[in-house]
Amino acid sequence: MPDKVIFDTAIIGAGPAGLSAAIYTSRALLKTVVIEKVGSGGQAALTDEIENYPGFPEGVNGYELTRKMDEQAKKFGAWFEYGEVNSVSQDGELFTIDISDKSYKARTIIITTGVSPKRLGLPDEEKFIGNGISFCATCDAAFYRNKVAAVIGGGDSAIVEAVFLTKFASKVYVIHRRDQLRASKIVQERALKNEKIEVLWDTVIDSLHGDKKLDALTVRNVKSGALSELAVDGIFLYIGGDPNTKYLSGIGVSLDDKGFIVTDGDMKTNVPGVFAAGDCRSKPFRQVVTAAGDGALAAWSVEKYLEEQEK
Ligand code: NAP
Repeated sequence: MPDKVIFDTAIIGAGPAGLSAAIYTSRALLKTVVIEKVGSGGQAALTDEIENYPGFPEGVNGYELTRKMDEQAKKFGAWFEYGEVNSVSQDGELFTIDISDKSYKARTIIITTGVSPKRLGLPDEEKFIGNGISFCATCDAAFYRNKVAAVIGGGDSAIVEAVFLTKFASKVYVIHRRDQLRASKIVQERALKNEKIEVLWDTVIDSLHGDKKLDALTVRNVKSGALSELAVDGIFLYIGGDPNTKYLSGIGVSLDDKGFIVTDGDMKTNVPGVFAAGDCRSKPFRQVVTAAGDGALAAWSVEKYLEEQEK
């Protein structure tokens, strides 16, 4: 049925930005389809504890929070479809969104496909993914009980997850390429006073070792050039994300030099009828609350755009 309908809006991606947009568009009685590759919640759903989302003084589990957002969007009537979007095309004022065996037509689209974790770009990296390289401490930390883990990166994700890993691991190295962390001060303080955490400053990974499973790293101090071996049971990559925007090449949406979608303050892109929200948008501050705010604004802009079209 839904692939025969013309939706008022198709929201691509069901992280906090997409779910927030869906709550607002469906509550505004706009016919809404949310198209999601895996399952609702995005990166936020993989976060053990979110302690800065307003309304939760005790903190909230990311999966719980986004599950409620999903429930709220469905309560207002948003239609959910699951599948990876291959392409988006435009014919006049209608957009067609293609997933593997179906396509959807909509008068507007809201892009909320977030980011995918960046890779180091080292030989054998692919081979070790799932065999000692992880992108999700919340999912895999329990495998590190009394083991040694290393977290790569110095941003909020790396440092929050390093602290989380200390609940299980006997030792957690943080391998950071500079001599200063990027993470917020409160997060840094917690990590730096944790006795299980050792930060290897000015350090990058030169090579990965192991037969089937990763068991050691060669690390290099970028200031001295010194190489050393580090035995680890596994590493967690938190070196930022690449925007999931490649499937948009057919509609000419403006991207910045890193591939993030350029919008104005109302979440409008350069293409009339196309809006973007959340982490895939070019912006300086990425939080669950800002993603949810972006989503609400994008929904409002969609409503105004459709009203204009109908005049
Ligand atoms: P991020 O802020 O972009 O940090 C990425 C980290 O990885 C940086 O420390 C960066 O080093 C390092 N890095 C990047 N490329 C690298 C490479 N090729 N090799 C080695 N290191 C590399 O990413 P994030 O931590 O995932 O955070 C993304 C956004 O979500 C941020 O806005 C963050 O504040 C937000 N976030 C917030 C929370 C929270 O508030 N609790 C939690 C998670 C995420 P440099 O510092 O040298 O650039």
